[in-house]
Amino acid sequence: MSLHIPPKMWHQFYHAMLDARTTNEEVIGFFFCKRHQVSKQKVRYLPQSWVVPSADCYERQSANGLVMKQEFHQYLIETFLAKEKLDVVHIHTHSDRGKPEFSGVDDRYESEYARFLSSHFNPSAALSFKKKPRLISGVFDETLQQSQFRIWDRKGQSFERINCSRSWFELTPDVNTPNETDLMFARQQAFGEGVQKQLGELTVALIGCGGIGAIFAELLGRLGVKKWILIDRDRVESVNLNRLPAATQDMATQQWYKVHYVKHLIKRIYATGSHVKTIPTSIADESAKQEVAAADLIVVATDNHSSRQVAQELALTYMRPLVCLGTHIDIQPNNTPRMYCRVTVPPLGGGWCLMCGNIINLHRAALESAADEINHLAARVGYVEGIGDPAVFWLNSLCASTGVGVIHSMLSGFLDVDNGLDWIYEFPGSNWLKTNPEYLGTCGCYFCGV
Ligand SMILES: [Zn+2]
Ligand SMILES: [Zn+2]
Repeated sequence: MSLHIPPKMWHQFYHAMLDARTTNEEVIGFFFCKRHQVSKQKVRYLPQSWVVPSADCYERQSANGLVMKQEFHQYLIETFLAKEKLDVVHIHTHSDRGKPEFSGVDDRYESEYARFLSSHFNPSAALSFKKKPRLISGVFDETLQQSQFRIWDRKGQSFERINCSRSWFELTPDVNTPNETDLMFARQQAFGEGVQKQLGELTVALIGCGGIGAIFAELLGRLGVKKWILIDRDRVESVNLNRLPAATQDMATQQWYKVHYVKHLIKRIYATGSHVKTIPTSIADESAKQEVAAADLIVVATDNHSSRQVAQELALTYMRPLVCLGTHIDIQPNNTPRMYCRVTVPPLGGGWCLMCGNIINLHRAALESAADEINHLAARVGYVEGIGDPAVFWLNSLCASTGVGVIHSMLSGFLDVDNGLDWIYEFPGSNWLKTNPEYLGTCGCYFCGV
C-alpha cells in the first residue's frame, strides 16, 4: 500500500502547516484520498483535496497535544466523506526534531477515530464494508521533514506501515540489491547510483510506437529503462521507414505490429532482464487503459489529439506523471518549411492539463475519435495510402531526446517541473519557446479542476 501526494500539493500543504503554528505547538492537517487498486497486492491512495485547520478549529492546541472542535469534525465528514467516500489521512506534528514516533495518545485517538469512521456510515446504505473510509495517519517532526505513516484497519484494532511518496515517482528501489557493476552505465555514474537504480525500476507506458515513440524507446532504453508497456495498434509500413531506427523493409512486408518492432529495439539493448508488454490495440481499449494506469510514467507520442486526451484523462484519474511528445511541419506559401517539436509535462495531480492548456484541441479530438474507426478500417482494406503529414527522423529525434532529457531530470531532480513544463522548439528559427505554466489553466477546468 502506498500514499502518493503530488509534489505541488505537498508544497501547499507543507506551507499551510507551518503557517498554522505560532510557536511550537502541534499542528494537524488532513488529506482526502481516492483508492486505486493497481493489482491484488497493490493499493494506492491518491489525495483529491486537503485541509489545514486554522487556530479557531482547535478545542485545545499546545506543544503536548491537540484536540479539534466537534463542529470541525462534522464539517470534514459532511464535506469530504458523506458524498465522496474518500479515505482520510491525518497528519500531525510532534514538537521536536528527528525521526518521530507515534505516541500512546496517538494510538488511542487514532484507533477510536478509525472505528468512528466506519461506524459512522450506515451499513444498510449502498456502501459495502469495503467502501467505508479508512484512516491513514502520519506523524512528522516539527520541521515536517521526517515522518512515519501507517494505515488502520476498519475496526481500529491494528495498523500496518504504509509508504508515503511526495515526489513524481513512487519508486522504492531495493537498497539491498547489489550495485550494477554494469559497464554499460559506467559513463552515466555522474548522475548518481540512485538515479540509475530508479531508471531500472521505472515502468513506462508508451502510447504510440511510431516515428517519435520508437526513437524515444531506443533513447530511454539506453539510459537504463527496462520495463515497458507498449501500446499502438498500427503496423510498420514502407512509408514509415524514413524515421524508424533499425526498421527494415522485411518488417513492413511482414506487417509487423509497431509494438513488436519497438519490443525488438528494447530486446536488442537488453538480451536479458527487460520486461516488455505489447498491446496492439487502441488506447481507448479498456484493457490498455488498465495497463497504463499501473505504470509509473505515461508517455504519449501519437500523431492525434484523441489519444492524447485519453492519456491525459488516465494520468489525472490515476495520478501518473505524463510526458507528451509531438512534432509538426508546415510548408509556408513561399515553400519554406516551419518545423516544431513540443514537449509537455502537465503538473502531477492537476493545476493545468493538455485540454485547458490548449496543447490539444478538444474539437479535433472528438472528430478524430469519430472518424478514427472508419479511417482505420479503410486503411486496413487498403483504401488509404497512409501518407499523411510530413515527418522526418531528425526532427522526431530532437523531440524524443528532449523528452528523455526531461524524464532524466525529473528522476535526478535537476529540473523543477512541479508546476509542469511546456517547451516548443522552432526550426529553422532556432527558438526555444517556453510557456510560463503560471498562465496555463484556469480554476474551472472540467478535466483537471478541483
Ligand atoms: Zn502525536
Ligand atoms: Zn485542465
